[in-house]
Amino acid sequence: MANVVVVGGGAAGLVAAWRAASLGHRVRLLEANGRLGVKLRISGGGKCNLTHDGPPRSLLAAFSREQGRFLRPSLHAFDNQAVLQLLRREGVETYSRENGRVFPLDRPGSAAAVVEAFETLVARAGVQVQTGARVLGLEGQAPWLTAVRLEQERLVADVFILATGGASYPETGTRGEVLGWLQALGVPIRPWFPALAPIPLQRPRPAWEGVALRGGELRLTAGLEGRRLAAFAGDLVFTRVGLSGPAVLELSQATERARREGAAWLSYATLLEPPEAVDAALQAEQRSNPHLRAATWLGRHLPERLVEPLLQEAGLSPTGALKDLPRDARRTLVALVTALPLGAPQAVSLARGEVAAGGVDLAAVDPRTLVLRGWENLRVCGELLDLDGPVGGYNLQAAFSTGYAAGSL
Ligand SMILES: Cc1cc2nc3c(=O)[nH]c(=O)nc-3n(C[C@H](O)[C@H](O)[C@H](O)COP(=O)(O)OP(=O)(O)OC[C@H]3O[C@@H](n4cnc5c(N)ncnc54)[C@H](O)[C@@H]3O)c2cc1C
Repeated sequence: MANVVVVGGGAAGLVAAWRAASLGHRVRLLEANGRLGVKLRISGGGKCNLTHDGPPRSLLAAFSREQGRFLRPSLHAFDNQAVLQLLRREGVETYSRENGRVFPLDRPGSAAAVVEAFETLVARAGVQVQTGARVLGLEGQAPWLTAVRLEQERLVADVFILATGGASYPETGTRGEVLGWLQALGVPIRPWFPALAPIPLQRPRPAWEGVALRGGELRLTAGLEGRRLAAFAGDLVFTRVGLSGPAVLELSQATERARREGAAWLSYATLLEPPEAVDAALQAEQRSNPHLRAATWLGRHLPERLVEPLLQEAGLSPTGALKDLPRDARRTLVALVTALPLGAPQAVSLARGEVAAGGVDLAAVDPRTLVLRGWENLRVCGELLDLDGPVGGYNLQAAFSTGYAAGSL
């Protein structure tokens, strides 16, 4: 039986502590906040998108190749079904949405019910939970970590499991400082980087706040006329300072990388056909329906609230008929629905991301045990690792699976 200290009482730390204690180890769980699972409680807008449906293979495919390869052993050991079974035994029933996202049954405070289930599990397994306990430093040198420092005490243990999460939403307790301490101990890391975050624009459209573009594709190019860097099919919504919504979150990391490299430009296609095909269809419409107003045609493909301002910006009359459109004006209309310019981004915020990319370099960690290479008694799990999946329950599943593997001592 080992004395185990788990640092961080979020998704990964709760599972790691429960697992290690269930295997008979003496476990102390240290959490900086006054209560456990603070980020879990706000996940999925308070509904907690726990995991994603499907076989492990399809969950792994949602991550980058390197991350998927790393996650394979821990996901196979504790997959989505295992998470759901564990929670069901604690009275948390779940359901899958059509898009594969799994949630607790809809009722007020469903995310809190998930945290309560984990609180019960760790308590029953005999974990000693200490909240309000922020670790302020690590002591030791490879291959042994000897202690973690708290404000009033220094805790020694046989095994340490670090589950301190990422660096976004610092108000939930995740300030990312542990990554710097690990780097100082010689552990290879990748610096924190924004991901799954809203994108502020250099020229936002506050008058369009709340308007959504749906069913199309958000595109990132290296500057206005530059080559295509990335695209994501999905909806977006205009905010006071820029853009948010599913497609925006997914493209935020690539956008910030492009911005830092010098040129990033965003546009949205509500029609996915090539511009030439849309132009041909518009010309056919001009012939068959010459009195149709250009504004009516545009309103079929873009939200009503945008039609008039966009026509005005393009110097076109909102009351003009299709038959009166010269070639250039027709091409302008086509461009609005195949590549509506959204503009250049401003810096994407690390703090506002649903995850933080970066973390402990995966190559420095044994993917079966989560032991740091070169260390005997130091394990790392959850978002502290260089793991960042898309929206859809993948990030919590990665935290649960790696937490389970780290706690399997
Ligand atoms: C708004 C929002 C919504 C999200 N929604 C979803 C969703 O629906 N589905 C999904 O899959 N993912 C979602 N995520 C992502 C997901 O919540 C995280 O990826 C996941 O919680 C990571 O788990 P973790 O245990 O590694 O870290 P966390 O859950 O962040 O836990 C880390 C814990 O460590 C503690 N800690 C940090 N430093 C110290 C220290 N020095 N000493 C002591 N304790 C410390 C923190 O207080 C924190 O409680 C969301 C994230 C956000 C911000």
